[in-house]
Amino acid sequence: KTAVVLFTRDLRVRDNPALAAACASAEHVVPLYVLDPKLGQLSPNRTRFLHESLADLRAALRDKGGDLVIRMGDPVAETIELARSINAEGIGMAADVSTYARRREERMREECERHRIALRLFPGLTVVDPGELRPGGGGSAYRVFSPYHRVWRAAQWREEVATPAKITLPPAVAAGRLPAIPKGESPDAAHGGETEARRKFATWMRHIGPYPELHNDMPADGTSRLSPYLRFGCLSPLELANAALKSDADDYVRQLCWRDFYYQVALVYPQLSTKPLRPGADTEWRDDRDALQHWQDGTTGVPVVDAGMRQLRAEGWMHNRARLITAAFLTKHLGVDWRPGVQWFFRWLLDGDVPNNSGNWQWVAGTGNDTRPYRKFNPIRQAQRFDPEGVYVRRYVPELKGVEGGAVHQPWRLPDKVRRGLDYPGPLESHRDEAVWLRP
Ligand code: FAD
Repeated sequence: KTAVVLFTRDLRVRDNPALAAACASAEHVVPLYVLDPKLGQLSPNRTRFLHESLADLRAALRDKGGDLVIRMGDPVAETIELARSINAEGIGMAADVSTYARRREERMREECERHRIALRLFPGLTVVDPGELRPGGGGSAYRVFSPYHRVWRAAQWREEVATPAKITLPPAVAAGRLPAIPKGESPDAAHGGETEARRKFATWMRHIGPYPELHNDMPADGTSRLSPYLRFGCLSPLELANAALKSDADDYVRQLCWRDFYYQVALVYPQLSTKPLRPGADTEWRDDRDALQHWQDGTTGVPVVDAGMRQLRAEGWMHNRARLITAAFLTKHLGVDWRPGVQWFFRWLLDGDVPNNSGNWQWVAGTGNDTRPYRKFNPIRQAQRFDPEGVYVRRYVPELKGVEGGAVHQPWRLPDKVRRGLDYPGPLESHRDEAVWLRP
C-alpha cells in the first residue's frame, strides 16, 4: 500500500496525525509539499519562514529514511498527478478553515472521488478541532470567548500521536529541488523550522512561570514568541497546551484557547477578513490615505504606536499589547477602516493568518465578538501602564533615545527647545485636535 501525505500548515514530524496515520497503515509513504505560486506573493517574511521550515522538514524526514517531495503549481492537480503516477491508494492531509484551504479540500475531494483515491482529513492545526464544539441553541460557532473557553477546557482533547520511526518511499519518486531560501523583508525576523521551534519551546517551558505578570509588559518581552511556529505547524499546539498544563500555566493555556476560538469562528464565517462579524457594526470609516501611510510607516507622532509599527517591520512580529494599541489607534482614533490594517499586518506578520489576524482586528475595531465594542484604548495611558519607563519605545524609535523615562510617551509636552532638537514628527495633522484628548 502507498499513501501520500500532503503537508500544508503542519510542517513537523512530531505529533503529526496525517503523517503518523500514513506510516501506520501504508508500506510506502510519500511526504509531499506543493509550493503554490498563489500563496508565495502574500508575504515575503512568511515565504522565507516557510522555505526554512520546508528545508528543516526535509532533513527530519531524510533522517527517517524518507524525504520531502517538492512540487510546484496547483496543490490539487500536483497531488493527484503524483498519487496516480505511483498508484497511491490514499491521500492524507490536515483539515484547515480558511476559505482558500476549504476550496482546496473540496476540489481535492472531487478529484479523489473521480480517480478512486481515498482522501482522509486529519486534525492537528488547533488543540481542539474547529467544528467540534457547538454552542447550545442551534448556533454553529461560539461568538463569545468565555463560554467557549469553558467547554474547550472541559472537552476531551485528542491523544498526541507517536513520531514515525521510519519512512519508506516508494521506488522511483523524484524528490524535486527545494528552491533557494528567498529574502524576507524584516531584518530581525525569527527563523522557521521544527528544530528551531523545539529549541524555543524547550526554552519557553523553563520561562513560562511568570507569564501572568509579564505577558502585558512590553519591555520585558516575556511572551513565548511561538506564534509563527504554530502558524506553520512547526510545533503542535496540542503538545504545547499539554506541556503548559503540566506546568500549571493556566493563563498561557487560555491564550492558546483564543487561537482555537478564532479558528472555529473562521470556519463558520468565511468573510472574516472583509465583513463585520456583527452585522451593521461597520461605522463610517474615514478615507485618509495620509493617516494610513503614517501609521504604516510608524510616523504618527505617538511614540508607543510608532514603536509597535516599527517592531512589526523590523521583526515580522509585534507584541500583543502593541498590536492592540496600534490597531485601536488606526480604527478608534484615526477612524480609518480596519481592513487596510488587516492587510498591512497580514503582509508583515510571520504568524499572520486569517482567523487570528482578522478575528483580532474585528475585536479591536468593535465589529467583532467583543462584548464591549465601544471601548477606547487611550494609547498614552496604555503606554504609561505597560511601558512606564519608555524602554520599549526607545528600543524601536531611535529618534527618541535621548528622552529619559516615561516622558518619552508625550514628546509634545517636552520643553520647546528639547522638542525642536528631536528628529521626530509632531502629532498627525488629521489627529491634531485629538492631541488634547491624548493627554491622560
Ligand atoms: P503568547 O502570549 O506567548 O501566547 C501564546 C499563544 O497563544 C500565541 O502564540 C498565540 O497562538 C495564542 N494567542 C495569544 N493571544 C492571542 C489572541 N489574542 N488571539 C489569538 N491567539 C492568541 N496572532 C496570530 O497568531 N496571528 C495573527 O495574525 C494575529 N494578528 C493579530 C492582530 C491584532 C490586531 C491583534 C490585537 C492580535 C493578533 N494576534 C495574532 C494575537 C496575538 O497578538 C499573537 O498571537 C501573540 O502576540 C503572539 O505572540 P506570542 O506567541 O509570544 O504569544
